[in-house]
Amino acid sequence: MESYLISIVIPVYNEGKQIFNNIDVIKNTLLNHKIPHEIILIDDGSIDNTWTELKRLSSQFPNIRGFRLSRNFGKEFALWAGIDAVGNNPCIVMDSDLQHPPEIIPEMIRLWKDEGYEVVEGVKSSRGQESIFSKFSAKFFYFLLKKLSGYELNNASDYKLLDTKVLNSLKNMQERNTFFRALSAWVGYKRTSVSFEVAERTKGTSKWSKIKLFKLAITAITSFSSLPLHIVTILGSIFCLAAIVLSIHTLYFKIRGIAAGGFATVILLQLIIGGLLMVSLGIIGTYIARIFDEIKLRPRYIITEQTIDNNKSE
Ligand code: UDP
Ligand code: MG
Repeated sequence: MESYLISIVIPVYNEGKQIFNNIDVIKNTLLNHKIPHEIILIDDGSIDNTWTELKRLSSQFPNIRGFRLSRNFGKEFALWAGIDAVGNNPCIVMDSDLQHPPEIIPEMIRLWKDEGYEVVEGVKSSRGQESIFSKFSAKFFYFLLKKLSGYELNNASDYKLLDTKVLNSLKNMQERNTFFRALSAWVGYKRTSVSFEVAERTKGTSKWSKIKLFKLAITAITSFSSLPLHIVTILGSIFCLAAIVLSIHTLYFKIRGIAAGGFATVILLQLIIGGLLMVSLGIIGTYIARIFDEIKLRPRYIITEQTIDNNKSE
């Protein structure tokens, strides 16, 4: 008999049409490989029949637990709700749409159990069907993140096995605005990866809007690097130097009485400096907004219902 238990954490948002079937597929893979498991499903404030389906799943299978968030908090926070629900055992975090193929779970578990790895990451060998725009923005974002924070997360995914130790470190993170993928790299530990092909989404569409992705990218960059703030200082210094040189030049011409009209120069300088000042203020503002968000110490998510109450005595 195996003496471990793996919690499978899955955030779910408006997947009513396919969730029952998808969980069945995941469950069967686990059963076929005799992997002792429980499944934790987080309904991220869906507006379709997802919650009814989660209740149905949980009443059919005793090792499935469902939690419902009070509104759509976003995948990041739904993930944390799931992670917080895991007991003192390792977990696997994955998507509900089978784009994270359950077939690699046995390999992930082997690497953790037999080879002692504490984080096993699913790495996308290809990004599946995506528009050129999505591919390009993802590449650009990871390039920027690598340059600014030093983490190579290209093709990283949220499909991961995390050992109990790693989970406990993550649970101790106090910050509100999180980028799970980078935080799970930040904690370190003995890590390895398993590559997988991103399957086609069978039903429904991706739940990420371009704006949500953009916001996540800003959170990721501002949580892991303060370089943009330093760039503001560096740019400011360069402009000060240029200003000194230009002032000497202007004064010299003025004194010699050969000052030119220079209207174009004045307008151009006004525009450049005005633009730079605004961008700089924007960058500083973004960090201040983050401090403001963190300092409020609001919970990351609110749970309104859960399928089984562990404390309920029957
Ligand atoms: N998801 C969520 N809350 C959201 C958006 C998505 O819990 O606000 C879940 C979704 O149900 C799925 C996973 O996060 O299980 C990944 O979402 P999706 O497949 O839409 O993203 P993509 O595969 O395009 O990255
Ligand atoms: Mg998906």
